[in-house]
Amino acid sequence: MSKTAATAPDPAPLRWNSPLSDLPRLTAARRSALGEAGLETVHDLLRHYPRRHEDRRKFPAFPAAPSPDPLCLRGTVQSVRSTYFGRRSQFTLVLAEKSGRVPAATVQCRWFNLRYLPKILQAGQDLVIHGRARALKKGGLVFDHPDFEILETDAPDSELIHLNRIAPVHPSIGPWSPRLLRRLIFETLAQLPDEDIPQLWPASPAGPGSAATDRNLTSARAIRAIHFPSSWEELESSRALLAREELFEMQCVLARQRARQTAGRAFVIPRQNALLPRFLKALPFDLTGAQKKVLTHIFDDLATGHPMNRLLHGDVGSGKTIVAATAMLGAIATGHSAALMAPTQVLAHQHHENFRKLFDPLGIPVVLRTAARKEKSGAEGPRIVIGTHALLFAPDTVGRPALVVIDEQHKFGVRQRAKLSAQDHHPHVLVMSATPIPRTLALTLYGDLDLSLLDEMPPGRVPVRTLVRPHGKLAEAADFVRRKLDEGRQAYLVYPLIEESARTSLKAATAEYERWRTLLAPHRCALLHGKLKAGEKDEIMRAFRAGETRVLVSTTVIEVGIDVANATVLLVENAERFGLAQLHQLRGRVGRGAEKSWCILLAGEEAEEKLDRLKILEEAADGFSIAEADLAIRGPGDLLGTAQTGLPPVRLAKLPQDLPLLEEARDQARQLLAEDPELSAHPTLRTRLAYWEKQLFAGVA
Ligand code: ADP
Ligand code: MG
Repeated sequence: MSKTAATAPDPAPLRWNSPLSDLPRLTAARRSALGEAGLETVHDLLRHYPRRHEDRRKFPAFPAAPSPDPLCLRGTVQSVRSTYFGRRSQFTLVLAEKSGRVPAATVQCRWFNLRYLPKILQAGQDLVIHGRARALKKGGLVFDHPDFEILETDAPDSELIHLNRIAPVHPSIGPWSPRLLRRLIFETLAQLPDEDIPQLWPASPAGPGSAATDRNLTSARAIRAIHFPSSWEELESSRALLAREELFEMQCVLARQRARQTAGRAFVIPRQNALLPRFLKALPFDLTGAQKKVLTHIFDDLATGHPMNRLLHGDVGSGKTIVAATAMLGAIATGHSAALMAPTQVLAHQHHENFRKLFDPLGIPVVLRTAARKEKSGAEGPRIVIGTHALLFAPDTVGRPALVVIDEQHKFGVRQRAKLSAQDHHPHVLVMSATPIPRTLALTLYGDLDLSLLDEMPPGRVPVRTLVRPHGKLAEAADFVRRKLDEGRQAYLVYPLIEESARTSLKAATAEYERWRTLLAPHRCALLHGKLKAGEKDEIMRAFRAGETRVLVSTTVIEVGIDVANATVLLVENAERFGLAQLHQLRGRVGRGAEKSWCILLAGEEAEEKLDRLKILEEAADGFSIAEADLAIRGPGDLLGTAQTGLPPVRLAKLPQDLPLLEEARDQARQLLAEDPELSAHPTLRTRLAYWEKQLFAGVA
């Protein structure tokens, strides 16, 4: 097919699973660069998808005016020029249109501080550039830092592979430029028989409402077309089909995991117990309707004899702790222990204190187990153990709890839950999260769990007033904080640590602290940051809770769970560095009592234009709408960063746009696995899932 393949002695056809060492004319150095990027086989290479495509079928005329849309132009390099100012450099190139117009239309291209460019770009070269045209002050148009590709017009494959088509632009890999990758993938596809490209989605059912509208599209066609499409339409339907496949694969992993987790045996915890009426009566409030509802879900699960795997999702302050405590009481009343895992020591301590208030009157021991403190319970028999995540997997710290509650977690993912259920003893698992997760993420990151929603706030909450202010208002904000302190309230002052060395950020934290201490004197301040020893943190939190310290200057360690009702002011500096969802979490630290509370978000010095994004928080009070707004602004990027989750990567699915595809994939995965749990009729899928499951468990072994 390709000209190079035709002139070389006919190479053996490649297989989907062939190692890349089977590719002809690939040097060891180039292959190892691919290997380092995780590409070992032909199909790994073919799943290195283009980051975009350029329409090179017909290049547009050079533009006469600037425009915000990117353009792809072809021209001849007329001249190049390097300028240096000290350590900085600028490389400028004039590109002339090849149309034959006289005089030729030109544009400038500029790159800064790329010293290798003069070595590779020269007058006379044939160039394709991709970028945005801006107007120069002195007239004419400039492309700053455009992507570029030098066309070797005398190379035989240039017309065939790189031009006259919608050309893929792949992410570079070490020495592999997009141009080299384009040729490699083109030649690989030419040697790969269609029959060898597996159809993952069993029936490929492009039903009504499905995004893959082309019923005749096969996986083989889609894999070819995602790289070298014959039209934009074919590109999109191929993307949709492959996105369905990757979502389906991921949902199969989750569905199997879910089945595995719930298949085991677990202690039966009955719905009613003798301690429950006394416990509820001692509470200073009635449970909300939502709390009662989720407790029904939980007790339904606990009574089945199979392990519960449930996510309790509720906004900050919705009252998740008491739900957990009630469920744990059930375990105790049945003669078993229960464990609560918090993500930080500070939170473990807080839970310990609160749980003692709840359980001491019933004579139920509550023990604290953190790295710093391994309290002997003294008592044998059923007890409540409170600890940090790390201790969950340390043998013999908890005994055999009937129920494990995992509070406020980000890092406790599918992988860690898989490990929990891989132990020979299967506890019931309740995961509690306030992270406002959009639906898309609930279906992925928590897809192995059943979901209960705590969608009602306890009564009598005074909503938090949120104010977004420019940096210039810092002094006024400080005055405000001071006034509140004078009135007897307490405050949190938060600023983000910039990711520098531990030493610089500690220095920054300390400097901030000294500044605030002077500003707010004589009110007592304390500095809380991640580098403190556990004992020091506990003491700082104790003093703050007791009201001895009035102000907590802190990094984001206060983000989760801390509950001090008298703290009514939260001031965040450089607020633009946080995501909206994270700010919402932070905001949940105030508004916990009957007093009116304030959240002041100060932008950094150079971030005035980012105030608009923060303003969303002035209006929106609930985590879900904020999460959706945040996702729309930032994209799913890291949230779906599948490397840590142990799930198959989502490369082509666009979330949240592809939510319908995701839901379809989940339903089909569950249906298929219900009909054919061993996947005997689907060997390709079975192999793929075995591969992913190995990855999933590899991280926890
Ligand atoms: P979160 O869901 O953020 O973990 P908490 O469990 O810390 O929330 O509860 C927040 C506050 O609300 C606590 O002070 C708790 O005592 C109180 N609370 C919980 N449930 C109710 C209720 N039904 N009525 C009134 N206050 C409640
Ligand atoms: Mg909580």
